[in-house]
Amino acid sequence: MALKKLIAGNWKMHGLFADLDQVREIAQESQGYPSVDVALCVPAILVERAVRAAPGFAIGGQDVHHAEKGAHTGCTSAVMLLDAGASLTIVGHSERREAQREGDADVRAKAQSALSVGLNVILCVGETLEVREAGRAVETVMQQLDGSLPADLEGEAELAIAYEPIWAIGTGKIPTSPEIAQMHSAIRSKLHDRFGDAGGQIRILYGGSVKASNAEEIFAIVDVDGALVGGASLTASDFIPIVQAAANSG
Ligand code: PEP
Repeated sequence: MALKKLIAGNWKMHGLFADLDQVREIAQESQGYPSVDVALCVPAILVERAVRAAPGFAIGGQDVHHAEKGAHTGCTSAVMLLDAGASLTIVGHSERREAQREGDADVRAKAQSALSVGLNVILCVGETLEVREAGRAVETVMQQLDGSLPADLEGEAELAIAYEPIWAIGTGKIPTSPEIAQMHSAIRSKLHDRFGDAGGQIRILYGGSVKASNAEEIFAIVDVDGALVGGASLTASDFIPIVQAAANSG
């Protein structure tokens, strides 16, 4: 049976007090699509205000430090996000892997830290254009998963994987449907190998230039259990049609 779809927005470094209006609108309009889980991952400074603006709606962070506390200037721990009212976090986004030089071991530690305090996790993987053109996309993503998947899935918090080809993020380019299908199927097999039956319950999201115009086609692909959406998650008018496409995909 198909998994309930998750549509998560990643606001990246966008969002001021005035943008809480969009959080409210997205939260309210999402209620019209109960067959879809919807979340917004906002900048850490906005988490608490977003939670207050939209009680009961899933608000997340975009990263956590692996440690619970300590001398880590400028960082946010998983328990801090939880304390602010977040229910999930992204880890391993390619922008952090690149700009903050986060490796697979860092991503695994972050995922484990978040899951251990009860935050749901969206763990991102994806290849560069160079790697795809060299025919090594699947192999590379499998290596990323080997290095960054948490050791186990104990506890209530939920892990999701976001396959985000780096060359598709914010570019308007997307892989072909067979390319997405091939990658998601490989990820599903890896999750089964690692976690047994539980691997079949882990949602695999596609991310990279998802918009209202391509969402329906993407959600029709087997083992695409939702989307991680950047640019098109900033306003209700762009984001809600993607949620609607997920609802229509059954
Ligand atoms: C992202 O930032 O995770 C992302 C997929 O961005 P966009 O939808 O803008 O390509």
